[in-house]
Amino acid sequence: MFSGNAVKLSTIAMACRFELILEGDDPVRLRSAGEEALTEIERLDAELSRFKPSSNVSWINAGAAKTPVKVDPQLFELLQLACGLSYWTDHAFDITIGSLMRLWGFGQAECRVPTVAEVEEVRKFVGVEHILLDSESCTVQFDLPGVEIDLGAIGKGYAVDQAVEVLRSAVINRALLHGGTSTVFALGEWRVGLGDRSIANANGNVHKSIVLRDSALSVSAVYGRSFESHGHCYGHVIDPRTGVPVNRNSLAAVWGPSATYCDALSTALLVLGSEWLSEMTSRFPSYNGMVIRTG
Ligand code: AMP
Ligand code: MG
Repeated sequence: MFSGNAVKLSTIAMACRFELILEGDDPVRLRSAGEEALTEIERLDAELSRFKPSSNVSWINAGAAKTPVKVDPQLFELLQLACGLSYWTDHAFDITIGSLMRLWGFGQAECRVPTVAEVEEVRKFVGVEHILLDSESCTVQFDLPGVEIDLGAIGKGYAVDQAVEVLRSAVINRALLHGGTSTVFALGEWRVGLGDRSIANANGNVHKSIVLRDSALSVSAVYGRSFESHGHCYGHVIDPRTGVPVNRNSLAAVWGPSATYCDALSTALLVLGSEWLSEMTSRFPSYNGMVIRTG
């Protein structure tokens, strides 16, 4: 039983609530490290959101089809990793999903089911091969207008990892940080419940209880951000290969050392389903996962 001090902090960023619990001896030190970690998440939200007109991602989306856009080395590295993850997930995870998200109306006032022709038209703008990264000049360019980057499936995990780095630098060795209950990192050992729709969802059924030790867990689910049309549920994870939201699987979870990887891989696993699980674990041996089929 833990007998020291616990400090709880939270912030709203990336369209969700991030919560952080820190445990240790000195509450002042815990609070100051925790606040610094949450500030890092807020900073990354301002940089990575495609909905904030002043973010670096919006800057790229607005200009990269016309001219190469220079970005800072940290964002450049994240984009390189995201493009690599697209190839390693057989393109199920793809950050050029932005134009399809817009077509289906996710993140806008109203969602709608587009026509097959509209989907085909917009699919032209999807595929990381449209992103040209020049490591010498640290620039990003698109090879055609209409391409749109959306870091929604990796940004939260990345922000969690960066915040954990802040905590580690402050020599915090026991903390639990989650973003919107869908991506969590445990510093030290914590038991978390994997619920119907998210991590540690007290209102749903707990499918699995997992012990995390200095590692992350991320969940991708159809629910949460979805809409119904003619009795069909359309979720916010789109299969880049068809342009249509995934609905064969309702939830995918991945756990392992990096929240960034867990976040991206859980999205890919939701798209590809349990058939991909063994390929995932052989490509990424430090990671494991599970999939729940719809139905
Ligand atoms: P997650 O909850 O981590 O699975 O992320 C879902 C979010 O990632 C969506 O709201 C979109 O912003 C974006 N997204 C949707 N489908 C994909 C995909 N196939 N690959 C990458 N990002 C996606
Ligand atoms: Mg994800």
